[in-house]
Amino acid sequence: MSFASLGLSLPILDAVTAQGYNTPTPIQSQAIPAILEGKDVMAAAQTGTGKTAGFTLPLLELLSKGQRAPVNQVRALVLTPTRELAAQVEASITSYGKNLPLKSAVVFGGVKINPQMMRLRQGVDILVATPGRLLDLYNQNAVRFSQLEILVLDEADRMLDMGFIHDIRKILAFLPKQRQNLLFSATFSNEIRQLAKGIVHNPVEMSVSPRNTTAETVKQWICPVDKKKKALLLTKLINEQNWQQVLVFTRTKRGANQLTRHLEAEGIQSAAIHGNKSQGARTRALADFKAGTVRILVATDIAARGLDIDQLPQVVNFDLPNVPEDYVHRIGRTGRAGASGQAVSLVSADEFEQLSDIERLIQKLLTREIIEGFDPVHSLPESRLDTRPFKAKKPKKPKVEHRDGQRSGTHKQGNSPSSRNRNRSRSRSAATAK
Ligand code: AMP
Repeated sequence: MSFASLGLSLPILDAVTAQGYNTPTPIQSQAIPAILEGKDVMAAAQTGTGKTAGFTLPLLELLSKGQRAPVNQVRALVLTPTRELAAQVEASITSYGKNLPLKSAVVFGGVKINPQMMRLRQGVDILVATPGRLLDLYNQNAVRFSQLEILVLDEADRMLDMGFIHDIRKILAFLPKQRQNLLFSATFSNEIRQLAKGIVHNPVEMSVSPRNTTAETVKQWICPVDKKKKALLLTKLINEQNWQQVLVFTRTKRGANQLTRHLEAEGIQSAAIHGNKSQGARTRALADFKAGTVRILVATDIAARGLDIDQLPQVVNFDLPNVPEDYVHRIGRTGRAGASGQAVSLVSADEFEQLSDIERLIQKLLTREIIEGFDPVHSLPESRLDTRPFKAKKPKKPKVEHRDGQRSGTHKQGNSPSSRNRNRSRSRSAATAK
């Protein structure tokens, strides 16, 4: 199948060719024709499947046919859970739409609101936004939606996990009822279906990667190691295996900072990306990482969600996540759209329970490899594959990180997700992992 056969016009096809894509991914070949027909779509697709082009290409096609957006109006709204994802979606829109006269904008918290207001004043055909900042802008009359034609909810599962449900409901209330709705989510839990009921009408449903399977192109393995030797082991692996572009996950922001300092002291260019970093610092770190001036990007789960880095060869789990589904999301950073990748987890004895949960979720035991000189004193017990389905269980002490689509100071703090909320969503993730 080719992009041309999906019903896209020449300016878009040229932009797709310029990106170097020859063949549509499965989500693209299913979603593009359905969206072009004006249907509502509910798609189960993780990051890495090509979902962004799956909705942005037909969005551009549909919008290129109508009238440009009048003052303060928006014709298509894309909601995303994090600033990084918002910026990436807008970057995709800009590159796929480079041959079209459409205007797009991206708004998120943590940066000045005034330039965003100015940009919106002209009217934009596509607005990509995180929910909190969008509400601020709406409440300040900076944006209107009476001409809205299409709504996209990207990574809807993560939006719920991050406590955005009330913001989303508020936003839905001021959108016109008559519109096309596209809902993308890595998983379709009961909660997502519940949310979807109030949004999509007779949707075309599609699913491209079965839930909780990790990409076959990703080689996954673990290094049993003592906790205090993890940083040294990572340094050794980076140097000996000559890894050039590595995304490293830590469980906490503090852990991310500590590791970055350690690597820098070892002469390995590194940067941390997490909720305590300013938007500028995060954007810079990501740009430097992509450009190759930063070799190691150390990230927490929430900050890393949705990061789009082409064909990332190497992911390291410096700590295992408490929520096993986060492992699948982390691994989703590599081996994208058919490219191969490698994911290694440094696992200490105290993480055995997390390891067992992950192996139970992905239904496979991870290959172990002990690196010479790093034989753990506290040995990691042997795993046995547990084939029973997951049951809801109390979350382990969840670490709360501020959500990324932060609102500006003008918005009431009362709506911020409390740690109670977050706990609830964590137990939900565990409950829905089957
Ligand atoms: P996404 O799932 O939208 O985050 O996309 C994952 C990655 O796949 C991105 O880096 C895209 O640039 C890339 N990609 C998207 N569509 C294609 C395609 N048809 N062929 C090759 N790569 C693609």
